[in-house]
Formats: sequence, C-alpha cells, structure tokens
Amino acid sequence: MVAGAGVSGVAAARLCLGRGARVTVTDQGAGSEKAGELKSSGAELHFGGFREDDFTSCDLLVLSPGIDPRLDEVCAAKAKGMPVLGEMELGFRFLESPCVMVTGTNGKSTVTTLIGLLLEAEGFEVFTGGNLGEPLCSLINSGRRVDWAVLEVSSFQADTAPTMVPKVGVLLNISEDHLNRYRDFTAYADSKFSFFLRQGPEDVAIFKADDKEISKRVPMANAQIQYFSESALLRPGGWLEGDDLVISARDQEQMRVDASQTPLQGTFNRLNLLAACMAAKACKVGPNAMNRVVREFKGLPHRVELVGAINQVDYVNDSKATNVGAVQAALGSLDRDLILLLGGRDKKGVFADLAPFMGPRLKGLICFGEAGPTICEQLQPYIKGHLVEDLATAFELSRRIARPGDMVLFSPGCASFDAYKSYGQRGDHFRSLVLEALSGN
Ligand code: ADP
Repeated sequence: MVAGAGVSGVAAARLCLGRGARVTVTDQGAGSEKAGELKSSGAELHFGGFREDDFTSCDLLVLSPGIDPRLDEVCAAKAKGMPVLGEMELGFRFLESPCVMVTGTNGKSTVTTLIGLLLEAEGFEVFTGGNLGEPLCSLINSGRRVDWAVLEVSSFQADTAPTMVPKVGVLLNISEDHLNRYRDFTAYADSKFSFFLRQGPEDVAIFKADDKEISKRVPMANAQIQYFSESALLRPGGWLEGDDLVISARDQEQMRVDASQTPLQGTFNRLNLLAACMAAKACKVGPNAMNRVVREFKGLPHRVELVGAINQVDYVNDSKATNVGAVQAALGSLDRDLILLLGGRDKKGVFADLAPFMGPRLKGLICFGEAGPTICEQLQPYIKGHLVEDLATAFELSRRIARPGDMVLFSPGCASFDAYKSYGQRGDHFRSLVLEALSGN
C-alpha cells in the first residue's frame, strides 16, 4: 500500500510493481496524471480519500513524505504491527552504491546540489535527488548504476527511515521549523540527527561547529567527525580564512579552495560551500574540481537571488526562506541598507528571534499575508512595521520607501500556502512584479 500519489508515491509504487508486488495506491486528492498511469501497470488506485482498511490489510505500508505518520490510518496500521516505511527508506533498501546524505533546517538543497556537482566534476557517475528533484526510488527504477547517490533528506523522510545510513552525512544546522508536525522542538531536532546514530567508525559525519542543538547530540555519533565553522574552532574540520575555504580533514594536511569568485551572497553561503567541499573531499574529490565548482555555481532560484535593480535598488528573491532561521541567515550576512518583506502562512515561528539580526541597517519592515498582523505585533518593540494585505501591495510599498543603494529583501520567513501553491510560485510572483516594474521604468 502506497499512501500519497505524488512524485515520490508514484516512484515507490513503480518500484514495488517492478518486483512483483500487488500494489494499491491511495491519495486524499484526485491523483495526478502520472499516478493514473499506474493503473495500466496493474496497481489498484483508491483516490479521493483514505480508507482505513487499505492501511490495515496490506503487508507493507509505504508513506510519501507529505503524509503525516501521526494520521489515524497510519497509527491503526502500526498498531496492527504493519511495517511502515517512507519512500526514501524503500529506495535505500535497494540502493547498491554508497551515499552522501544532507540534512538540516536550512541549506539542504543548496549543499546537496553542490556536492552532486563536485562529484560530477571529479568524473564520478552521480545521482543527486531525494527531497529535491527526483526521489530515490526513481533511481532504482531506472536501473542506472552510479558511483554515489547524493541525497537531500528532510526530517519527514528521516522519520520514516529506520535503517537508512550514509557513508558521508552532513548536518548543516538545526533551528525551529515544522513545529506543526512535531510534538516539540526536541522531537524535530532528534529527527534531524537520527541517521547519524546509525553510522559506524568507517563513516564520516560533518557537523556545524557552533550549533547548540547539534553539539548536544554529538556524543551519540560514532562516525569520524569533522566540524565546519567560520573560524578554526574545532579540528579536524574546515573554516573560512579571508576568501579561502580551508579544509583540514587530518591534522597533518590542509587543502585550500579559493572562494573569492563565488557568485553566492552571504557568509552562510560560504559555509554551505565549505560543508559541500568537506563532504566531497571525504568522497575523494580533489582541489581542481572544487575550485571550478565554487567559482561557477550560481546558486538555486528563490534563495537570496538577485532579480534586478530598479532606480539603484536591488530586489532580492528569497522566497525559499520559509522559516525564521533562513531569514536570520540572510539578515545576518547581507551588509546592506535593507527593506524586509515578511509574511505568509505562519509555522509557529518566533519572529521576535529576528530582533538580534535586524541592526541599524534594517530601514523598513513590511508584513503581509495571513501572518502579517502576528509578525508586526511581535516585532513592534524593535521596529514599527507596515502591515499590508498581500505581496503585490508589499512590493509597491517597498518601491516607495526604498532609496538608491538599498536592497529590498523578500525573505518571508513563512510558508506560502496562504496564497500560493508553493514557495516557487510565490517567488515567481515576486520576480514578475520586479520584472514588470523594470520594464515599465
Ligand atoms: P533547504 O533545502 O534546507 O530548504 P535551501 O538551500 O533551499 O535549503 O535554502 C532555503 C533557505 O535557507 C533560503 O532562504 C536560503 O537562502 C537559506 N539558507 C541557505 N543556506 C543556509 C544556511 N546554511 N543557514 C541558514 N539559512 C540558509
């Protein structure tokens, strides 16, 4: 039984069908066209709602990452002793190559993409996917043989993956997010750490050095640990020195990568480059490939992405900043006079935690969307925000407030679902507002 008929669920169903299983796929919605095609491959499709007996009468229940394992139907299956796995765990059980796994609250997609590019630049055959791009089951279904699988792992995927373990694991940071799906912050942080508990002494774990939640859990890790940080805090590890990324995986050796030409903005992105290079080094990637990728990687869309300048004001799209931690990273490392646009659907974020990062260079705050009033209220003691209805109005207002040399930063700190299908659609909207204004200028 596969629950959830999106891209991951369809790939999981195909994997099971390909191995001779009888498969039922269920979804609360109408199911996509691709899901419909499973019928001709022999799957039974139960769309338009969940039925408890589907969940309790199977031999194996596979969950898509969007399905909450706390659902009544899933609990009923567990109570009956049914094995319950996530799509990624299912794929992992058939994976023959070693893998790198990247997790953390923010930066996963950026770092996963970078590691994939670094391994490819060294000449390895690589699959890069998981929570980003294609699901792991798609790789298995394709029959493609790879030297490395580089996987972005969300906490939802980690929660349903009891045996999944990487040869090289990266934990970027842990800050508050998705608290609507966890009992509390500790449960969320434990989920982020889960696969490090299963690594052995042959494996490598790369941790951010000065992260409170990670540090608490490090004593439980069994792998060879390397830390990354801005300064040479803990060794073995990596740090930033001028424009260089310095990696000292063992005491006697040091590798330097030149990051002076990186198109990426912000110190947090230099740390992303560093963590990615450290993971790549653990997979035997050399400095030439690293220098090239670091120089050329322009970053992913919707992550502190410069859309354009109007009247000498830079407009930056950071729609993927869906939690407070991501906004903190942008605020803390963009040394510019800023106007910040915050808003969307609240994920129980504590917006007052932005206060220490706001500084004198934050010249204006505009709050919009469902969470607008909450954000304005929480930040009231620090800055008087403007409250507006929606993103388009926020953008218009930002144009009136901004002065030449300023940056308008759209880093919403909230989910997009109050008004958009995804952070991508929301970022595209912001981008089109900027481009329209540019063309009218
Ligand atoms: P994820 O896949 O974990 O959501 P992304 O690479 O897509 O991470 O970035 C999501 C958001 O977090 C973007 O707003 C980005 O600018 C910000 N971000 C990226 N890397 C980091 C980091 N190391 N620390 C904090 N925020 C980051």
